[in-house]
Amino acid sequence: MDCLFCKIVKGEIPTLKVYENSSVLSFLDVNPCSLGHTIIIPKKHYQNIEDIPEEELNELFSTITKLVKVIPGVVGTTDCNIGLNNGKLAGQEVPHVHFHIIPRFEGDKGSSIQGLVRMEVDKQKLPELAEKIKNEIENNPDGKKTTETKKETTENKPQEEKDSDSSNKEKEEQPTKSPEREWQEFDMELQNTPPDYSEARKENY
Ligand SMILES: [Zn+2]
Repeated sequence: MDCLFCKIVKGEIPTLKVYENSSVLSFLDVNPCSLGHTIIIPKKHYQNIEDIPEEELNELFSTITKLVKVIPGVVGTTDCNIGLNNGKLAGQEVPHVHFHIIPRFEGDKGSSIQGLVRMEVDKQKLPELAEKIKNEIENNPDGKKTTETKKETTENKPQEEKDSDSSNKEKEEQPTKSPEREWQEFDMELQNTPPDYSEARKENY
């Protein structure tokens, strides 16, 4: 597996490790959003959180809690955001599950998790949506994609995208790509235009 974080786990790429146990590794982000920005990963390669077996997930979460108790204090603050970009659409840059602890400071001009996106949502339809999710948890707990859920995703696209004629062609082509195919293309993009991560690494190590 040619994955940046797997290479870090194997020790093939140096990193500023802050904690490790048998299944979890944690290190400082080389391109930090704030002082103390830390990454926490399972040592085994899983792409998304839903792929991680429960025992390893518990280990991952107890490590996050352990670090949250310590990191903000070390960098002279009290609070932090704990985040996961779960999938490419959510901003995941390395296809290996990684949580972020981002310490927050008075006057840092940052936002909250809710500041990530602001779509127009019809609040009248929320009770119906809650029912739908409840039923899905009961009847389709593994979340296998249905035609209905795909349609729903398209309907809920941001307003600008729905109205824009120029994006229609792109929208029609996208569903034919498998997630694996998308990641391969994304990996190639990363190789052609190395992210800040690699650039920062060259300077720092
Ligand atoms: Zn990996």
